[in-house]
Amino acid sequence: MPPLPIFMSMNGKITFTMVKPSAHASGYSGKILAKIEEGGFKIIALKLVHLTKEQACMFYDVHIGRPFYEELVNFMSSGPIIAAILQKENAVEDFRKYIGATDPAKAEPGTIRNLYGKNMGENAVHGSDSDENAVREAGFFFSSLERP
Ligand code: UDP
Ligand code: MG
Repeated sequence: MPPLPIFMSMNGKITFTMVKPSAHASGYSGKILAKIEEGGFKIIALKLVHLTKEQACMFYDVHIGRPFYEELVNFMSSGPIIAAILQKENAVEDFRKYIGATDPAKAEPGTIRNLYGKNMGENAVHGSDSDENAVREAGFFFSSLERP
């Protein structure tokens, strides 16, 4: 589904994130959202959602066929997540740096995944990997009434 033109004008200035189920269950959502704001990312849309397995499969369809896909979608539908759209210049790249490497053990000290991630799968947060995916992922979670 194509995003609305007004939303497209934010291309390059937004990214999409989720606090993953394990981090939310551990009570880290507040701390993670505070850390996100401290990093200069403005929260412009926010919600708590418990994805069904089917919805998690759709969100991660780029990973279909990967060995970790089944585990990933089971995990991402195992409990509530916090979904948010973040606004900042150079949002996608800056946020990827701010959260750190996929594996928390390899993430730079002080990054969100280093601070709150447990392991490769339960790595605390998601961050979009391109402007195109940021728009697509934001559109998956938020309707035009729920976002700028
Ligand atoms: N993942 C995993 N095992 C792997 C690679 C990825 O469990 O070997 C999980 C991990 O939770 C990761 C998500 O799948 O965040 C999506 O993988 P991707 O390669 O897109 O990493 P990301 O963009 O989240 O850093
Ligand atoms: Mg990714």
